[in-house]
Amino acid sequence: MPIEALCGIQLALYAVGWALAAWLIVEERPAMLHWMAYAALQAGSVVLALPALSAGTAPPLTALLASVLGFAAAVRGLDVFVSGRARHDRWALFLLLAMGLGIAAVELLARGPALRSRWEGVPYSLGLSLMLLSYAALSWKPLRRSHRAWTSTVLLAPLWSTALLGLLSLWGRTELDDADLQAMRAAARTPNAILTMVMSGVFNIAFLVLLVGRLLTRLREGARVDHLTGVLNRRAIEERLEAAWEQHRRTGCGLAIAMMDLDHFKRINDLQGHEAGDRALALAGETLREQLRPYDSVGRWGGEEFLLIWLGPSAEGVQRSCERLREVLALRAQEQLKMPLTASFGVAVLRASDVAEVDLVRRADAALYQAKREGRDRVCLAGPAPVLHAA
Ligand code: GH3
Ligand code: MG
Ligand code: MG
Repeated sequence: MPIEALCGIQLALYAVGWALAAWLIVEERPAMLHWMAYAALQAGSVVLALPALSAGTAPPLTALLASVLGFAAAVRGLDVFVSGRARHDRWALFLLLAMGLGIAAVELLARGPALRSRWEGVPYSLGLSLMLLSYAALSWKPLRRSHRAWTSTVLLAPLWSTALLGLLSLWGRTELDDADLQAMRAAARTPNAILTMVMSGVFNIAFLVLLVGRLLTRLREGARVDHLTGVLNRRAIEERLEAAWEQHRRTGCGLAIAMMDLDHFKRINDLQGHEAGDRALALAGETLREQLRPYDSVGRWGGEEFLLIWLGPSAEGVQRSCERLREVLALRAQEQLKMPLTASFGVAVLRASDVAEVDLVRRADAALYQAKREGRDRVCLAGPAPVLHAA
């Protein structure tokens, strides 16, 4: 069996693998369908080129066209993956197709009687290399958002290294005469096939690494987020509290927490149903996420109770934040859910007598009960001054 046939089988298997992955992982389907097309077109290119390679003649234009379009599908898939959607969408696809057809047309001209056969393959290698290099440059910046500089460069290695190899293959090419070219074609057959197998392996592994990395990140995030409210879950917010306490111990920075509990929530469930209750909880989670700064933390402590953590704030600052949250939540519930929804807050700002994070939680809880006792819909500060603000 010719070595190119093995190469074709390998590529066809990659195509089947991407088709299966696209079927299973719906979220990343568009990118994976592009990578399936890449592997299938490359396999097609090998099959189309096989008779010519066996006869020692130049591969047909259809093989080169399939190869260029295959690479175009690969880079477009990468673009879809890193930027969420393909750059400039439809016209980018048109540009890629035009580029592939253009390369094939110039290749056809180069092989024509007017030009010497030593130009054969030059438009293909040059066009393909430029296309891969431009896509490597375009994809680097979006990749940098989620990866370090050198990781992004390594992940894009299949693109730029194939491009560099393509440019290198042009070195001294126009010096060759027909006999040299014939001899070179024969000598390069096995190395070329091996190189194609290795490079397509590298391409597919790089895509797979990107995909697995993204799925893992999503899985880790999913395991830390409360599904209904979108804020951190109990375990994750407890970890944040431990980390905040540790930071306070190391650096001496201030620390404050608030326990927030929705008022008469049982009534919402009883009078309007559990679905209305769920919608109110989701709105509370959304409001908390939107109103707090990225470096503050918020998590669902349980039921309709939330824990909020601030590093280094003043007691007044935390109380102001809670008052604003209380007002915004009531307003949005009225506007969006057409229902009254209020919350009570118990705030605990770190004191010298707190020896562990549970002391803070205990005091915040006590302040919350005080807020409930005093009529709900208010913010109470734990400690010597029992109530600083009332609605
Ligand atoms: P208070 O003002 O004293 O806090 O009164 P409350 O009714 O809010 O407090 P209580 O603890 O009696 O009731 C909390 C209710 O929250 C009971 C429970 O059914 C409801 N709840 C807890 N988790 C969920 C949830 O995920 N969805 C819905 N719809 N309700 C929930
Ligand atoms: Mg409640
Ligand atoms: Mg409660």
